Amino acid sequence: MGVKVCVTKDYDAMSRTAAYIVAETLRYNPCSVFCMPTGGTPKGMYEDLSKMCGCGALDFSDATIFHLDNYYGLTAGHPQSYCTYMKEHFLKHANVKRGNVCMIDSGMQDMEDYCKSIDDRIYRAGGFDLCVLGIGTDGHIAFNMPGSPFDSRTRMVELSEQTIRDNSRFFDWKTEDVPRRAITVGTATIMESRRVMLLANGERKADAVAAALEGPVTEQVPASVLQKHEDALFVIDKAAASRLSSDFC
Ligand code: PGA
Repeated sequence: MGVKVCVTKDYDAMSRTAAYIVAETLRYNPCSVFCMPTGGTPKGMYEDLSKMCGCGALDFSDATIFHLDNYYGLTAGHPQSYCTYMKEHFLKHANVKRGNVCMIDSGMQDMEDYCKSIDDRIYRAGGFDLCVLGIGTDGHIAFNMPGSPFDSRTRMVELSEQTIRDNSRFFDWKTEDVPRRAITVGTATIMESRRVMLLANGERKADAVAAALEGPVTEQVPASVLQKHEDALFVIDKAAASRLSSDFC
């Protein structure tokens, strides 16, 4: 029990380490079920994975990929839709079978049934072998905002003002263009993953990382629940580790 922490010298080393862990998971079990994130943080990891796929070093043909979250209300082809992101950064480079990808559609009408169908699909796949996460500056994981119940499942959520502000950088800094709602895999499902790997880089994540690792376990800091996970690993660069009181380096 307890979170392990790997502090890397910089963003590139964080990305390489993360890609290596995904690759090792896949090599150990080619039928692995992954839950994969979007956002700024994992771009380097996807770049490294794509290079490995490009030279034939990785075979995703028997793997399953679930989407961690997505905005609600963006059209499928919208440049900021997380479906677009996943295709561009990962899926077009990896030989994942179409039927083995479960993206979260951002425009469904009957949300309750739709969210339940995602949870059913996760259950039928046997849960996640590895869930890769980023962390928000407010401590959120996936789009489980501060205050999200630890027993939550896939559902529609309202984004926090802080997240809307943070993510406006992907919308030309126009906060009014950032969707207010999103669909996210729940905290309970993340906690049931056999392994969780959280990535963070940069000083702007340092407070959230410190709160997650060294603060109380509270729904106000969703990432703090990972302290209770049997096999959680934080892969963070030095800047993101800079407010940790313990010497993790
Ligand atoms: P970021 O987002 O990687 O774009 O900083 C992380 C998150 O919101 O989980």
